[in-house]
Amino acid sequence: MGFSTDAIHVGQEADPATGAIIVPIYQTSTFVQEGLGKNKGYEYARTLNPTRAALEKNLAALEAAQSGHAYASGMAAIHNLMLLLKPGDHVLAGHNMYGGTFRLFERVLKDSGLEFSYVNTSRPAEVERDFRPNTRLVFIETPTNPVMEMTDIAAIAHIAHSHNALLAVDNTFMSPYLQQPLRLGADAVVHSTTKYLNGHSDGVGGALLVNDPVMGEQLRFLQNAAGGVMAPFECWLVLRGVKTLALRMERHCKNGMAIAQYLNQHPKVRKVYYPGLPTHPQYDLARRQMKGFGGMLAFETGSLSNARTVLESVRICSLAESLGGVETLISHPATMTHASVPAEVRESLGITDGLVRISVGVEDVDDLIADLDQALQRIG
Ligand code: PLP
Repeated sequence: MGFSTDAIHVGQEADPATGAIIVPIYQTSTFVQEGLGKNKGYEYARTLNPTRAALEKNLAALEAAQSGHAYASGMAAIHNLMLLLKPGDHVLAGHNMYGGTFRLFERVLKDSGLEFSYVNTSRPAEVERDFRPNTRLVFIETPTNPVMEMTDIAAIAHIAHSHNALLAVDNTFMSPYLQQPLRLGADAVVHSTTKYLNGHSDGVGGALLVNDPVMGEQLRFLQNAAGGVMAPFECWLVLRGVKTLALRMERHCKNGMAIAQYLNQHPKVRKVYYPGLPTHPQYDLARRQMKGFGGMLAFETGSLSNARTVLESVRICSLAESLGGVETLISHPATMTHASVPAEVRESLGITDGLVRISVGVEDVDDLIADLDQALQRIG
């Protein structure tokens, strides 16, 4: 079936008890058993809940995965993935990941004996160079936040597998509609469902999607053992959001491209980071690897004061962290999402004080451009 048909139907058969077309929110902690060891597939809601089961089946279909696993947040999903590793194992990770992932690795998981090192995964030769005998996992984001650096998923999967390591891809920025890492050879996909999958900025959640049945079983065990699972109402919100994922992503891409082109010709904008612009250094890879270029972009205003002027002058774009919702969010990576990254590291990644990031929503794009235009006019 096609992507949208799967999004609307997989895991979402009419409710067997009532015929309800929408999967109910099974707001229950436990399930009555017919006899000892006899149940309808559900025993206790941490272990499995029907609303969560529906979402997990649905997301697995969208990422071309064998099994899906839903968590209380994107961070809980990444944490569960890391529980597959053992003390002494090494993780090779992208040098510009979401700050919360870096914090989990450096300030939580290092203390349990895992080793981490970081590399620019857009350069496969450097990834190859940094493998250690104990490297078990390569963890990447593509494109990266906020400078939209791309990594060739198939190339890195090949390198990882030649070293008997796994590749996990955080696909939050693209969503499965625009990029399907498992089809390119990755072993696990991570999502913060908080973003495009939910799409309406009204819930926090995460997911892991994998193809290997053994890994799927291990994750199922870890979901129950560690317990950071997604609640039924949150699952229902994501199920609802996913039904319009394809429509929303098409519009995010269209609006993203229009705004990138507008900014690219603006005299007060020094640089635009968007993989859909032919000037992007990895434009060819973006075209090959993704079905569209998405709704995330960043641009350089030249100084903190210029960035502040833009951020404080916009009226339709909302100054806020997060991304992937229907409404346009604008943010300042250096003081918001990347504040915990040391200043010199930020500079080396291109995350300057003048950089502004936009999660382009699905509003009328002319209104968004007019809003940015009046804000940019205020720069001295
Ligand atoms: N991965 C990426 C790329 C993110 O942007 C985020 C959050 O911003 C996360 C993971 C963490 O997800 P959550 O906030 O749902 O825990």
